[in-house]
Amino acid sequence: MDQNCIFCKIITGKIPSKKIYEDEDFLVILDVNPASKGHALILPKEHYANLYELPEDLAAKTMLLAKKMAEHMTKKLSCDGFNLIQNNGEVAGQTVFHFHLHLIPRYQDAENDDLLRWDTLEFTGEELTAMVKLLV
Ligand code: 5GP
Ligand code: ZN
Repeated sequence: MDQNCIFCKIITGKIPSKKIYEDEDFLVILDVNPASKGHALILPKEHYANLYELPEDLAAKTMLLAKKMAEHMTKKLSCDGFNLIQNNGEVAGQTVFHFHLHLIPRYQDAENDDLLRWDTLEFTGEELTAMVKLLV
């Protein structure tokens, strides 16, 4: 529990939220500023700032729950696709520093269909080879 964390306050009930699922490790709530109909967040009940801090067992459980929620929500909402998004660090768009995974149902006829489109970069063959060398 982090006294200054808004998601910890939601988890302890100090701040209200629209809860759609709960178990011993997680809460799933609707996002207060949804990118689509049904946009929700998986929150571990323990405070971890980001993916780097999240223990491996909870990381694994997060993905299992994401699969379960995506299947459940797709059935209930009749959405046409689904994004899982997880931001780490301010530069990556993280605004709440309590690990969370976005569950974003997608709809064929949505007004904001370019939700996740980004400009692409180009790299030379040598640069890509150097990248592989660095990362393998
Ligand atoms: P991030 O940008 O850190 O990946 O995502 C944070 C998300 O938390 C945002 O989509 C934002 O709308 C949502 N959020 C921030 N404060 C609250 C809150 O008090 N309640 C709920 N339900 N969502 C919140
Ligand atoms: Zn927290």
